[in-house]
Amino acid sequence: MKYRKLGRTGLKVSEISLGSWLTYGNSVEKETAVRVIDKAYELGINSFDTANVYARGEAEKIVGEALRKYPRESYVIATKVFWPMGDGPNDRGLSRKHVFEQLHASLKRLQLDYVDIYYCHRYDKETPVDETLRTIDDLVRQGKVLYVGVSEWTAQQIQEALGVADHYLLDRIVVNQPQYNMLHRYIEKEVIPVCEQNGISQIVFSPLAQGVLTGKYKRGQALPADSRAADPKANTFIQGFLNDEVLIKVEQLEKVAAELGITLSQLALAWVLRQPNVASALIGASRPEQVEENVKAVDVVLSEEVLEKIEGILA
Ligand code: NDP
Repeated sequence: MKYRKLGRTGLKVSEISLGSWLTYGNSVEKETAVRVIDKAYELGINSFDTANVYARGEAEKIVGEALRKYPRESYVIATKVFWPMGDGPNDRGLSRKHVFEQLHASLKRLQLDYVDIYYCHRYDKETPVDETLRTIDDLVRQGKVLYVGVSEWTAQQIQEALGVADHYLLDRIVVNQPQYNMLHRYIEKEVIPVCEQNGISQIVFSPLAQGVLTGKYKRGQALPADSRAADPKANTFIQGFLNDEVLIKVEQLEKVAAELGITLSQLALAWVLRQPNVASALIGASRPEQVEENVKAVDVVLSEEVLEKIEGILA
């Protein structure tokens, strides 16, 4: 495994992180989830991602239980707050009340005294940014959160938060968690430049476009039975990628990977890691073998010629 510094901090995260959305507490059995997390840890992954909302807290419980046997200093755990956790008017968003309560609920489920990264899972138009950042800053001062992150915030929203943090001398955002993969690249235009200027890294989610960039979904063929796309509990978001236009590109990308003697998933992960502002590619995995295959991407270096070929395919 290789490790990169997270933004301007001294924290180092593995180039591959393991997440828990749609998998643990949902479509993957607990025993398998623990085996995948153990495999990731064994292969040097030190960065694990979850959220209060994943399977309504069940993902946090499984990730926390799986990691408990390892020394606390040996892993970095991130969780998030924003999406509804109940039907009440204060059961969502980034208000002081909800953030405060949810962080404590997450710590309880994770069986931890602190989380390494606490993300605002989305921007909350109904709460002033200073209210949210001051609350998280209080949690930082109480030793319950070490680093502040945001997820899928625009460049403007990130700039607003930096201005507020500097005005009130609050802990600054050091990481953003957007979707980024060969098929979804909006962050390149504005988000990455603003983050680069301000010592903020990206930990990017769905680097494999939910499995589409492994090449296992083929034009005109049935969905593999054991895949996310075939699982009614998990297949809502992947549909947007499953069309001929995308799958033709995937076929061409597979040829590029084959020429390099690597798999398409390794090519897709090496491609997001070519960006110096990306600290880590945050994968999901439904079985240990996927982690074994995917971590090998950290040793793949893509030449200018290969990158140009990929641009041609994606254009
Ligand atoms: P990926 O793009 O890595 O997709 C992961 C899925 O692809 C796996 O669960 C598996 O599904 C399949 N897969 C992975 N590797 C292989 C392989 N080598 N061969 C074949 N299939 C493979 O990421 P996710 O979309 O799962 O997102 C990763 C993490 O990012 C989440 O767990 C979560 O922690 C975070 N996230 C954050 C969001 C946010 O808003 N901040 C939003 C979404 C995700 P299967 O075997 O079932 O087909």
